[in-house]
Amino acid sequence: VITIRNLGKSFGAHTVLKGIDFDVFPGQVVVIIGPSGSGKSTFLRCCNGLEHPEQGDVTLCGRPLISGGKMLAEPALNALRKEVGMVFQSFNLFPHLSVLENICVAPVMLRKMSKTAVREQAMQLLEKVGLSTKAQAMPGSLSGGQKQRVAIARALAMSPTVMLFDEPTSALDPELVGEVLQVMKLLAQEGMTMIVVTHEMGFAREVADLVVVMDGGGIIESGTPDHIFGSPENERTQRFLQSVL
Ligand code: ATP
Ligand code: MG
Repeated sequence: VITIRNLGKSFGAHTVLKGIDFDVFPGQVVVIIGPSGSGKSTFLRCCNGLEHPEQGDVTLCGRPLISGGKMLAEPALNALRKEVGMVFQSFNLFPHLSVLENICVAPVMLRKMSKTAVREQAMQLLEKVGLSTKAQAMPGSLSGGQKQRVAIARALAMSPTVMLFDEPTSALDPELVGEVLQVMKLLAQEGMTMIVVTHEMGFAREVADLVVVMDGGGIIESGTPDHIFGSPENERTQRFLQSVL
């Protein structure tokens, strides 16, 4: 689904991604872990063209999003971005729109679907994330866990091929983390292709097909959860895991 070759990104003199090579296959759940500042968010943002790298290639669904450090131009860029759903740490819901409207606004504008069809799909998605009773609620009246589940439903409403999650539970009270991880687990079981940046090692162990460890702008190690958590080879991986587990 995603092919990344020699991806490089700097902010001024500060090199944040150092020539990353990476592949994500259909249905795969990839969990990215690593210390703060290692480039996880920047990497994720390069996968959907939110960040413009100077170097490398990103291919999405067989089409070049970035080639030789050059980003695809509009309108093809926007068409390709629809293939990627993104969920952030801070839910980013539209505060003045109801839950249902939050989910419907993008598909109505961008997917050329009828309003009725979009609403019907939105209700199904709310069912999936366990919030069918909240369709008319305003975001401000929801808990953080509920907001994040709405954000996931909203991303899914665009029928993305791949879902990116950047620390989706980091802003939540501990007792609300589980309900969001549960929804993500369900998505994984349904075969959604996912890249998840998280500090939830339990989720990584249980759900990930591949765990990728980033440090200093590069991938220092990757492997199955058993390998990464059971017998990590890189000394920096060992140190990072000791600090979080
Ligand atoms: P965290 O776990 O704290 O979210 P991260 O692994 O996601 O960290 P990034 O947010 O990708 O790390 O940042 C990597 C590096 O790039 C950091 O040193 C950060 O200061 C720098 N950086 C990120 N965004 C910008 C920006 N817009 N301008 C300048 N520097 C930036
Ligand atoms: Mg980050």
